[in-house]
Amino acid sequence: MRIDADVAIVGSGFAGSLTALALRRRGRRVVLVERGRHPRFAIGESSTPLANLLLEELADKYDLPQIRVFSKWGTWQRSRPDVAGGLKRGFTFYFHHEAEPFSDDATHARQLMVAASPHDDIGDTHWYRPEFDWNLSREAEAAGAIYLDDTALDRITFGAGTATLEGSRHGESVQIDARFVVDASGPRGFLVRALQLETPEPRWLPPTQALYTHFEGVARWDARHQQLFAVPYPPDDAALHHVFEGGWIWVLRFNNGITSAGAALTEPLAERLAAADGEPAWRRLLDTLPSVREQFAGARATCPWIHAPRLAFRTAQVCGANWALLPSSAGVIDPLLSTGFPLTLLGIHRLLDIIETDDGAARAARLGEYERITLAELDATELLVAALYSAMRDVPLFKQLSLLYFAAASFSEAARRLHRVDLAPGFLLHEHPTFGAELRTCCQIAATSPSGAQRDALFDRIRRVIEPFDVAGLLDKSRADWYPATAEDLIANAAKLHAAPEDIELLLQRCGFSVNRRSVV
Ligand SMILES: Cc1cc2nc3c(=O)[nH]c(=O)nc-3n(C[C@H](O)[C@H](O)[C@H](O)COP(=O)(O)OP(=O)(O)OC[C@H]3O[C@@H](n4cnc5c(N)ncnc54)[C@H](O)[C@@H]3O)c2cc1C
Repeated sequence: MRIDADVAIVGSGFAGSLTALALRRRGRRVVLVERGRHPRFAIGESSTPLANLLLEELADKYDLPQIRVFSKWGTWQRSRPDVAGGLKRGFTFYFHHEAEPFSDDATHARQLMVAASPHDDIGDTHWYRPEFDWNLSREAEAAGAIYLDDTALDRITFGAGTATLEGSRHGESVQIDARFVVDASGPRGFLVRALQLETPEPRWLPPTQALYTHFEGVARWDARHQQLFAVPYPPDDAALHHVFEGGWIWVLRFNNGITSAGAALTEPLAERLAAADGEPAWRRLLDTLPSVREQFAGARATCPWIHAPRLAFRTAQVCGANWALLPSSAGVIDPLLSTGFPLTLLGIHRLLDIIETDDGAARAARLGEYERITLAELDATELLVAALYSAMRDVPLFKQLSLLYFAAASFSEAARRLHRVDLAPGFLLHEHPTFGAELRTCCQIAATSPSGAQRDALFDRIRRVIEPFDVAGLLDKSRADWYPATAEDLIANAAKLHAAPEDIELLLQRCGFSVNRRSVV
């Protein structure tokens, strides 16, 4: 089989298929190569407001209304109930002491809830990837991309202005000549191996391992441990995090009875639990967390257990003259703040613009910039996640550090919705002259596990960093670490976004975020 294409995309996860779809809308000849076959299990399921906004923007720019519906829970459920997914109203954290049942006080000392949306209809989502990715690959094929599943690629070679991929499918040899290759094959994927790209160790994050699968029969935490009175949203309709010294567990519920759950563990704990054992290691972990064990008492794994002996990964090089890795192939840090989707979608936007550039010199310059930005965004994410890991036994500090993320994310989303991207430069505002520099400094101080006056000073410093960007009431202590998403907060902070209150009201109406309505359930 011989195929000539403008663009060859390796990997048909959501990212590869979305890229293929957008390129087909621009009339490019696209081949999408997958080594497996849909439907298949994939990890990375929880979206965020920024991820969904980027998906919406991509759908609008490339005229993909069938994709836009997936950017909000309500439109998804009305248009595509056949594709399973989960409702994500925010980020829920419970902080556990080893071997003790979970308990908390009226100040919510051992929890943190940050709403991302005011009501279910415009809520974020968890993507049930077996169906979500399958649907996207079919859309790409229907749009005219040549889709080759079950295909083993063996090598890539480069000629004048082309790349040649060679491999086999069902016993037949396959050769693809393409002017550009996008690697969407995930971490440690095709080009990393074929080109033997350098993969340096993380700079700040300690070595971590992961253990995960899908379950049925996972009990709702809020049915046993949380009264629903005045919470910003039902705590399980969220990315639910159980945090403990040395790691954390994610629990993501889908609407088909399946729950995704797993643990990210620092190396000493992973070794103590013998994480490579799979399910027995999971049981050993739950034995140290009695309330989580209770939540999983009736649970049964529905997929094989996956043990990732090294969770974080990154490459030193992201692109060449006629190839590029998507950010998800260039690096993965940790699922802790659901950063994978927005980073990947930012990369797709950038790469599509670059592929559209016909002038060779301009394209080369833009590819260089793509590499710089991709690596800088991975750095910013790694620094913050590393600081959070170092604070897992210091709950107040963990909460305070996480507010850096929530302030940057909510400010960036609002700025983007106001078409003022210039106000929020870089993922997590890392390119902002003050916020970016302070983010790095605060994370570096946190990594030293400060105590006494130094720790107090860090708390003050983080508050000062956040204040000019806080459009979500994150510094309001009366909320006791339960943060709803309210129109009032955004309107009251309009000036921080260089906007008038009326601009924000119009923005909120456009987004279906009803004004004068608090998001308390
Ligand atoms: C444990 C864990 C949890 C995560 N949780 C989250 C989260 O909650 N939220 C979030 O935003 N991000 C999360 N991420 C990151 C997230 O997984 C990625 O951002 C996302 O999966 C990227 O999608 P993708 O389509 O680029 O790649 P993938 O989902 O990795 O898909 C790659 C595809 O390429 C195919 N492929 C691989 N090699 C080849 C080859 N040689 N030839 C052809 N095809 C190939 C694979 O079969 C697969 O279909 C998580 C990551 C991990 C490791």
